[in-house]
Amino acid sequence: MTELNLVNHDELKRILAQLDQGLHNHQQWHNDIIRTLICRLPGDKHDMDPEAHKECRFGQWYYGDTPHIIADHQGFVALGDSHQNMHQLATRLLAQATRMEKIAPHEYDHFANSVEQLRLEIYSLKSELENLLFNHDPLTGAINRINMPSILREQQELSKRQNEPCCLALIDFDWFKNINDNYSHQLGDLVLSSVAHFILEKLRRYDKLFRYGGEEFLICLPFTDLQEGKEVAERLRSEIAELPIKLKQNESIKITVSVGLAMLDIDIPIETSIEYAVKAVNAAKEAGRNCIRIYDIKRIQ
Ligand code: GH3
Ligand code: MG
Ligand code: MG
Repeated sequence: MTELNLVNHDELKRILAQLDQGLHNHQQWHNDIIRTLICRLPGDKHDMDPEAHKECRFGQWYYGDTPHIIADHQGFVALGDSHQNMHQLATRLLAQATRMEKIAPHEYDHFANSVEQLRLEIYSLKSELENLLFNHDPLTGAINRINMPSILREQQELSKRQNEPCCLALIDFDWFKNINDNYSHQLGDLVLSSVAHFILEKLRRYDKLFRYGGEEFLICLPFTDLQEGKEVAERLRSEIAELPIKLKQNESIKITVSVGLAMLDIDIPIETSIEYAVKAVNAAKEAGRNCIRIYDIKRIQ
């Protein structure tokens, strides 16, 4: 699952601001380069440096203070390559101009394309991060409930077209009210976010985690039948039960969850499949909690 889900909202906002700043700075920088080339002015010494991409403000941020969580992200890496390429092409053009050499049209085109490429990559990364910011719950990193129906319907269409099963797992924290009552709402929040982050780390790239309710999460598992879904859910359930959640310096607690499984049926409204998962989770509660129940062919197993 994409690690970006784990970046907190303030961090996301800071990265977005840096990307905006990068766009703005390079627009200005590009204007200056064109002016220098057309008016045959001496090139700025920073732009003539082979390491110019590390010296501009954006480069200093990119190579210096980037949060390490985003550093390995493909879009972010691609952005760095384009940025470096663009600066190197500019350095070459400036060197040619300084030597009063003719600049071939294809070399200029190359540079112009690299500027456009960088802009596109910044916009593309921004749009991905904005999607995370607006569609994900800030506390847990799960997708907001408001976006759940459209995503599930899309998944239902895909399952139909690919003739692949898709499983839903509804997770409800056990006795969660007691956590709030015995500790505090704030520590309750910490428990929720710790477990949600743990789940996000365990999921596959194409699995989705939704915040279904306060302490209820729905996982959508494409390419997964009930048997495989049961294995995934059972693994998650037992690992969550063993997960120490650090509350304070020396204090940690454990929590259990109940899970209800149902198929995302391609022939019925998604709401009905979710209802089946709810029925299954209720059955897990009745069975004593910290267990899994499956809704299969209109009966609970
Ligand atoms: P059960 O095992 O039957 O699910 O018991 P429960 O206590 O988990 O269930 P109940 O529905 O009685 O209580 C859910 C609690 O979850 C009550 C509510 O205050 C708490 N809760 C819901 N959303 C949040 C949240 O965002 N943060 C915190 N700290 N608590 C929340
Ligand atoms: Mg509940
Ligand atoms: Mg509960």
